[in-house]
Amino acid sequence: MKIYENLCVGCGRCHPYCPAQAIYFTDGISKVAQDLCFECGACLRSQVCPVDAIYESEDVYDYPRSVRKFFSDPTTTHKETNMPGRGTEEVKTNDVTGRTAKGELSIGIEVGRPTVGTRIFEVEKITKALAEAGFNDFEEKNPVSGLMKNKEKGILKEEVLHERVLSAIVEFTIKEEELERCLEVIEKAAAEIDTVFTMDLISCYDKGMKIRVQDIIDKSNFTPRPNAKINIGIGRLNDEEA
Ligand code: SF4
Ligand code: SF4
Repeated sequence: MKIYENLCVGCGRCHPYCPAQAIYFTDGISKVAQDLCFECGACLRSQVCPVDAIYESEDVYDYPRSVRKFFSDPTTTHKETNMPGRGTEEVKTNDVTGRTAKGELSIGIEVGRPTVGTRIFEVEKITKALAEAGFNDFEEKNPVSGLMKNKEKGILKEEVLHERVLSAIVEFTIKEEELERCLEVIEKAAAEIDTVFTMDLISCYDKGMKIRVQDIIDKSNFTPRPNAKINIGIGRLNDEEA
């Protein structure tokens, strides 16, 4: 995002809308630090500028800078997946898609948050650590998977590594019995990255509404918050015995 220097009156109204703290004052007007900007569009969409000085940069859809917008602006669609948003529908439609089968677990690691954000190279630290440990069944339709040069090794394309985004979600699937080891790998990778992340662990309920891996989760160093996201109305059971 950029600001017309000849229009800006330095009122500062746009500053609080920036989750990257990329807008700063200089010589009585505001400018956008191009390296910090996520291209999330929040400042422009807020329509707070009294003189219409905020405008989208001409290079915002040029690759690799385009990665910033696709990962940070929920109103845009990823070229890699043709899907809006930063991840996929994951568990919300699992009763229809059966994407996470019984005996499997899907894991989503959301790297970065507003104000903190992340560089893509921090995301790669996690994908590489996972792949090195054999966890490289990355979700095909996920935007981070679309940035991969070598999926087997979790290596991302060099040209996107320094791009800064609001957040990016790594999604992959493991066998239930691999969970303990996988959590150890994620915990070790967490110590190496210079941002924050949250993690989704997606499983099917066992009979009696039990989560089979609950014991492993409880013994781990992660703090679980059991909840469910279901798109009510489109579901139908894909398991007769469920
Ligand atoms: S596009 Fe987003 S990150 Fe960039 S200056 Fe505007 S609000 Fe800040
Ligand atoms: S809201 Fe507009 S005029 Fe005010 S500081 Fe931001 S760009 Fe400048």
